[in-house]
Amino acid sequence: MKRVKFREIRSLRVKLTIYALISMIATMLIMAVAFSVFQLHLMDMGINNMAILLIFSLLIFTAFFLLISYDTILYLKEIIIGIERMKNGDMTVELQVEGEDELAIIANSINEMRLRIAGEAMTKRIAEQTKDDLITNVAHDLRTPLTSIIGYLDLVKRDDILTPEQKDKYIRIVYDKAKSLENLIEDLFDYTRYEKDKFKIECSDFDLNQFMIQIVDEFYPSLSEKELTCVQDFCPEPLMVCCDGELLARAVGNLVNNAIKYGSDGKQIEVYTKKKGSNAVIQVVNYGRIIPKEDLEKVFEKFFRVEGSRSLKTGGTGLGLAIAKNIIELHKGTIQAESGPAGTVFQVELPLV
Ligand code: ATP
Ligand code: MG
Repeated sequence: MKRVKFREIRSLRVKLTIYALISMIATMLIMAVAFSVFQLHLMDMGINNMAILLIFSLLIFTAFFLLISYDTILYLKEIIIGIERMKNGDMTVELQVEGEDELAIIANSINEMRLRIAGEAMTKRIAEQTKDDLITNVAHDLRTPLTSIIGYLDLVKRDDILTPEQKDKYIRIVYDKAKSLENLIEDLFDYTRYEKDKFKIECSDFDLNQFMIQIVDEFYPSLSEKELTCVQDFCPEPLMVCCDGELLARAVGNLVNNAIKYGSDGKQIEVYTKKKGSNAVIQVVNYGRIIPKEDLEKVFEKFFRVEGSRSLKTGGTGLGLAIAKNIIELHKGTIQAESGPAGTVFQVELPLV
């Protein structure tokens, strides 16, 4: 109640009334002085002189009123100029918020509106840019294998100049390239499919230790191809989580796949599960190539690859970790990376049941 009264006192209406009162008192004082100096008497005045006196008083009142309310009028003008500039697209204008009256409230609301509009415009620009980047990257990644598929098919078409062995070799290459195209297209679908808030997951309770044993099992062929061993150390007690097994397998599979792909210089990769407070933790560790500190966050962005060049043979399209992150976040979990001479660790935390 008190606050309302306080606001009332500072309101524009009260302010203008006070200005009018001050102007009126000042006018009356001036008139009183004029009467005494010129020894005038109201009773002796004719109707014409009375009219002149009234006009004269009104002029003095108006002059005083304009003088006292000059700051308020100036402030109002500033607000109008600001609004005009915003209307013409200049979103850098920030209106001064002076006092607590209605004009200050208007200025404040306009500032908030400006920030919201500028924020929305920025989000729209970023979305446009992301879409453009996506199209450029996808176009590039589709074109590279497609160009060599066309090139090899062209060679195979010229039947007469190739030996059967060469033909077989080229067909195998074409097959591999077509497979990598298929993988890329699948990754693209998955990336958009598993975007946060868009995808409904089908959860069930299971033990993360058992789950990890299965995942690592599936990678034995690629591990032995790269002559790597996988050290496993799991939490002695069951780690019950409520997750979509298929999706989680995709996310963790991407981490193990990366560990094998980028850790082939080391002798082994390591997979751990632990309990940390109310969370279950999965760690996938590899040695060899180190991810620079400034790239540790970026590796989870779509299409980001530490190697930069998109045509390098190692690695794929830079979607694996972005997909993994989307999936982990769908499960209200977190994923982070650390990398140094002591190894590269990808750590996933998921809430325990
Ligand atoms: P994709 O997984 O889509 O086939 P990718 O492996 O290049 O392609 P991500 O899995 O998203 O893409 O990884 C992004 C980048 O992060 C990789 O290109 C690589 O440079 C780096 N990276 C990822 N995992 C590791 C790791 N375990 N050790 C070292 N670098 C890694
Ligand atoms: Mg990958």
